Amino acid sequence: MNKGQGSLIEALQARGMRVTPQRAIIFGAIEKLEGHITAEEIFEQVQQVNPYVSLATVYRTLELLLELNLINQTNFGRSQAYFALKDHGPHHHLVCSECGYIEEFSDTIFNPVRTELEEQYGFQAHTDHLSIFGICKGCREKLAGG
Ligand SMILES: [Zn+2]
Ligand SMILES: [Zn+2]
Repeated sequence: MNKGQGSLIEALQARGMRVTPQRAIIFGAIEKLEGHITAEEIFEQVQQVNPYVSLATVYRTLELLLELNLINQTNFGRSQAYFALKDHGPHHHLVCSECGYIEEFSDTIFNPVRTELEEQYGFQAHTDHLSIFGICKGCREKLAGG
């Protein structure tokens, strides 16, 4: 049977870390929500299971998961941070500054950039969950049409 990528609980236990009941609830919420989620969305989900878990605990747990490299974050140019599980795969986002449209694109697009940076500067670039801002196709067509 394929067990997939394993849960966040298993990932923490594999690192010899303690999984408190509060953490377990927060992990469950993150895994249930999928895709890109805010701390507030996680908090709402957690509250349905246990109303005594605070937003501060959610933030602390997210910080821990970021440190452990199990989740990543981007802000899409907004005030809130959006979190995604790492096993969602390496990807980035195109964010339209006009209409807020967000599209996902594969990390492989950066392969030539990484190669160039390494060859020219001896620099190993870590491109991880970037938001690239600009104008989407729809908005460009609208702008062009006047
Ligand atoms: Zn993403
Ligand atoms: Zn747009």
